[in-house]
Amino acid sequence: MDVLSFVIVGHVDHGKSTLIGRLLYDTGSLPPDKIQEVRKASAGRGRETEFAYLLDHLEEEREQGITIDTTQVFFKTDSRRYVIIDAPGHVEFVKNMITGASQAEAAVLIIDVAEGIKEQTKRHSYMLSLLGLHQVVVVLNKMDLVGFSQERFDAVKKDAQQWLKSISIEPFFYIPISAINGDNIAAKSDKMTWYTGPSFLESLDSLKNAQPPQDKALIFPVQDVYKIDGDRIIAGRVEAGVLRANQLVKVLPSGQTTKVTSIQKFPSRVELAVAGESIGITTEDPLFLDRGDVLCTPDAEPTLTDTFDATIFWMSKNEFKKNKKITIRCATQETTAKVERIDSRIDSSTLDILERDAGTLKNLEVGQVTIKTKAPLVIKSFNDVRELGRFVFVEGDNICAGGIITCDK
Ligand code: GDP
Repeated sequence: MDVLSFVIVGHVDHGKSTLIGRLLYDTGSLPPDKIQEVRKASAGRGRETEFAYLLDHLEEEREQGITIDTTQVFFKTDSRRYVIIDAPGHVEFVKNMITGASQAEAAVLIIDVAEGIKEQTKRHSYMLSLLGLHQVVVVLNKMDLVGFSQERFDAVKKDAQQWLKSISIEPFFYIPISAINGDNIAAKSDKMTWYTGPSFLESLDSLKNAQPPQDKALIFPVQDVYKIDGDRIIAGRVEAGVLRANQLVKVLPSGQTTKVTSIQKFPSRVELAVAGESIGITTEDPLFLDRGDVLCTPDAEPTLTDTFDATIFWMSKNEFKKNKKITIRCATQETTAKVERIDSRIDSSTLDILERDAGTLKNLEVGQVTIKTKAPLVIKSFNDVRELGRFVFVEGDNICAGGIITCDK
């Protein structure tokens, strides 16, 4: 069965925890005794079964080291398994996404329909856009508070549409829900017969898994070169396309070509390897190959450049200065870089452009920048091949910024 990982983002109190609790409950992902316990506790507080409370309760258990890890919540429907990647805050989320620690394939934006779009709704959805997460479902929650009004739903949907369009997100669905009562979550609600779209779970089931980009041109960044019994084994992961034995490949940045003589997919020898597979290969002339080289097909090369535009998220207490030398890592490549221009400096909480043609970036600020590297880098835009489209800046052992390549020059 496929697994789809997604994040839920939205303004505080708009119902994220309640929705997660409801999903677990409606998909039968909780043991019955747990539900009973929460029912009792909620009744004691004079409330209906509180799903947000349910999640807090699981959180407590997690702290005591028992059962469920709420940073990775699992549930399944008839057609697929799901992982909700919980991000305690946007900083962690952005950091995880950019560094590849967690890979959400889709996002759910939750908006309290009574309150409408708030500051964090904007901030979080902007981050989705920045991170190239374009598979988005919007749920308008707390429909019970507005008497399940279609008018109110339409008004908030229109606002959301306008805002999301301005940041290049076109959601697949807008769904009116009441997380607390389960309306339009697992099944269609009889309180909103005017709504003809899918339930929330149906909408999730219709989302696509991010395919390993096998149909694209070959990208094979060299991770390491090992000497074994006189052979030089070139190890790495195929990030895009297919690599075949006897195939002619071009090595960047040197531009030399060579032939792949064998492919080893531990423990056996194979004829081909596809995107996502980690392999070791031998080549006709292995001597010039080294970590950071990228193998590609001669007729479909990625960009080799020392200058490109990017969006970076600065995550360090130390202020970042234009033109200061810093280490950049992109896939297995590493070199020295400097930011030549900070086109705009953006407050990640308000999204206000604080300054044009800025000289510095402070902690948690976003910059749209032009980067120049000492050695040329092999890159792709983030939406094409993720591994070659994102990078980090490193100071000492610390990742102090993550970035996404928006345009190569
Ligand atoms: P979070 O901060 O986004 O995780 O929000 P919570 O899930 O903690 O919900 C915030 C408050 O909104 C809680 O008191 C919930 O009981 C309440 N809430 C969540 N969903 C609904 C809903 O569908 N209807 C109503 N009336 N209240 C809701």
